[in-house]
Amino acid sequence: MGKLVYIIIDGLADLPIKNLGGKTPLEYAYKPNMYYFLRHSTLAYPNVLGKSAPQSDSGVMADLGYDPIKYSTGRGWFECLGLGLDPKDSDLSLRANFGSIEGSNLKNVRVYMSSGELQELEDEINSKVKIDADFEFKVGEGYRAGLVIRATKYKLSAFISENEPGYSPKFYPNGRKIGFAVPVKSKKISKIRALKKEAKYSADLLNDFISKSSDVIKKSRVYRDRKNRREELPNFLFLRGGAVSDPKLPDINKTYGKNWAAVVGMPLEKGISMAAGMSIIDTGELSDIKSDFYNKSDKLNSALKKFDAVYLHIKQTDAASHLGKYTDKYSIIESFDKIILGELSKKLDMKGGDTLVLTCDHATSSELKRHINSNIPVFISNIKFGPNPSFGESIARMNHVKSIRHATDILRFASRV
Ligand SMILES: [Zn+2]
Repeated sequence: MGKLVYIIIDGLADLPIKNLGGKTPLEYAYKPNMYYFLRHSTLAYPNVLGKSAPQSDSGVMADLGYDPIKYSTGRGWFECLGLGLDPKDSDLSLRANFGSIEGSNLKNVRVYMSSGELQELEDEINSKVKIDADFEFKVGEGYRAGLVIRATKYKLSAFISENEPGYSPKFYPNGRKIGFAVPVKSKKISKIRALKKEAKYSADLLNDFISKSSDVIKKSRVYRDRKNRREELPNFLFLRGGAVSDPKLPDINKTYGKNWAAVVGMPLEKGISMAAGMSIIDTGELSDIKSDFYNKSDKLNSALKKFDAVYLHIKQTDAASHLGKYTDKYSIIESFDKIILGELSKKLDMKGGDTLVLTCDHATSSELKRHINSNIPVFISNIKFGPNPSFGESIARMNHVKSIRHATDILRFASRV
């Protein structure tokens, strides 16, 4: 059996853009190495999450064969796992952002800080904040963090609202929970609310944590130094994606009979890959895109020597779309093609039966600056297939294999090629 490389490019799919001659950034980009893989390929155009626009956690789960409606317990589980926090069943795990508010109004949901500053705030919050439960708070990169509240006294519950505007959880009858993006209607920050009676203790704990952490942040040296330097000041924590149970993803190595590694740099993708049973090759995220791609390409190619299947996640395309920078988006796709696919075209033995899958976790519109509910284009390259003239949203919509209807079908199809 050949090797399998599965590349997820975050928010790759888009809508046609007038200034790009009615093409999407993917269609517009110069991508000669993608064309090399298209010489033997089949296309797919599956749905990801019914009629809803997925967030990355649902999209990545679906791409890796896990139906979010069957498995998702809340994004916080994966975020905390990926940060190294070791969440346990019954603990309450959440994703956190350092942000800022003015009075009770939202100012910024993301205040970027250096890793030194973040580390200092992590230490201060862990040592100075006292609430009616044990907790662990851990920072990631930029403005990100994770929080695990340990279930030592009373039962914790995930039936809570988010205090980060723009997100809302949906609860399913089977006890599963998925976070969705919603329009931001008001700048007013609400407290975390219990959505069921049983969640009152959890909501109270979190509001207490947020208020005490804000006080600690405002009294910190980081805050004072940033104020002196007239830099943006963090004074609030936004929490979302609360999860109280292990999603218990079936082991991907057993399901598909391959030995998997994940070449990933962000806590969310790291956490999902860990939960799926993959070996983690942590790349971090380098701020210079080309250096980041060379780093990921090196790690992907060395992983291929040891593992049968490798999942690679590329993040930058989604960020460009959220900022409305469609020209950045297609130039990121061009760099990806040149650096990562260029090297991969030399490393994969396509004549020997290796397989490349390339897709995204959801579509992100660069003009609307948000995730949209649209099917996703996929190509699966293997010597068994004939040629395709190009790759993009339109061609995948018109000419796709019928047996991949849902993103969860991609891997089953690709591993049987
Ligand atoms: Zn995403």
